[in-house]
Amino acid sequence: MLHVSNIRYRWHQQGPLILDIPDFKVGKGERVFLKGPSGSGKTTLLNLLGGVAVPESGRISIMDSDISAFGGARRDAFRADHIGFIFQMFNLLPYLSLIDNVTLPCHFSKVRRQRALQRSSSIEEEARRILFHMKLDIDELSARSVSRLSMGQQQRVAAARSLIGSPELVIADEPTSSLDAGVRTSFLNLLFQEIRDSSSSLLFVSHDASLEDAFDRTVPLTEINRIIPQE
Ligand code: ADP
Ligand code: MG
Repeated sequence: MLHVSNIRYRWHQQGPLILDIPDFKVGKGERVFLKGPSGSGKTTLLNLLGGVAVPESGRISIMDSDISAFGGARRDAFRADHIGFIFQMFNLLPYLSLIDNVTLPCHFSKVRRQRALQRSSSIEEEARRILFHMKLDIDELSARSVSRLSMGQQQRVAAARSLIGSPELVIADEPTSSLDAGVRTSFLNLLFQEIRDSSSSLLFVSHDASLEDAFDRTVPLTEINRIIPQE
């Protein structure tokens, strides 16, 4: 599903190397928990894997496509079709409604739209189905701008957006950091259920070690990365 070989990355093409990763793989349907101290490069790695940033050398292959060799537009199209990304800072669009934030990937990707329509009669219905599972009261929240929702609510909207249309790879950057313990468990269960239904792979970053056991495998970034973070 995902195969990284010999990637190196530094910010703005200068400054210190942040990542130097000889080899890292995620299998199809595998759920991987990536951990590491703050500032060690977890978000940077996820951005590379999601095609948001490009390594200075090395190869990132997803579903047998070498995305590191793609140009910007092709990378964006590939991400829209195959990758659900839950950003650390949510990145919800304040001028779109709650439902429209969730259905957004279906407007960028025909593949995602078609898969959403296999599950529900419309993409809006599919957004509602996922949000309902996330225990969000859509009728109550729809009247408000998404920027007025609580952190925990925004996090679940961002998760619903990443899951719609069943992307093959879901990348989640600390998606539970704003959730209460009770919601966190149901959130994780839904995330697992959705990715199991579509045989998707999950790469999940968290500080919360109590979640680790629920995953197939834990990878400490310090084990795959040759660079030791400077304090
Ligand atoms: P983590 O997610 O593990 O906390 P990050 O990937 O955010 O770590 O950061 C890794 C390193 O890259 C840190 O030293 C951080 O200061 C640096 N960094 C992160 N974002 C930027 C940026 N936009 N420009 C320059 N350096 C950055
Ligand atoms: Mg981070």
